[in-house]
Amino acid sequence: MLNLVYNPQGPSLPPPQDALEADYKRVLGERYGIVFNRLYTLANMPIQRFGAILTSHGEFDRYLDLLQHAHLDANLDHVMCRTLVSVDWQGYVYDCDFNQMLDLPLGHGGHERARLSDLLEAEIEGQPIRVAGHCYGCTAGQGSSCGGALKEAAE
Ligand code: SF4
Repeated sequence: MLNLVYNPQGPSLPPPQDALEADYKRVLGERYGIVFNRLYTLANMPIQRFGAILTSHGEFDRYLDLLQHAHLDANLDHVMCRTLVSVDWQGYVYDCDFNQMLDLPLGHGGHERARLSDLLEAEIEGQPIRVAGHCYGCTAGQGSSCGGALKEAAE
């Protein structure tokens, strides 16, 4: 199994995943004999290194506007934080790895920061997910997750 990941070089949304996958399969196959299974398109999150690049180019607000205006409610059903959590090396739990990078931990049962051990006996299904502006990176356009476009992941 070989899956490739694509994300845009600059402050734009990724192109449609299926069409891009077909193009990559054709070109990599014809030119280099490379065969792969899936190509996953991921949107760039306006955080950390990419966020700093946007800020240094004066493009942060414009990119966030782009993500917000491309938001689709339908993607909310499939964002990865609904089914996965991230755990750091100390055992602290986050709704996703982006929240982990931003140090936005999952709170639970009076703990500001829950550890995995705090959750072993807990029922966290239905608990609120910690969201912020960067979440538009998951819900814009075709949607984005570690499994690629949300629309296609859902189908
Ligand atoms: S960035 Fe926001 S929407 Fe995306 S997975 Fe994390 S919490 Fe969910």
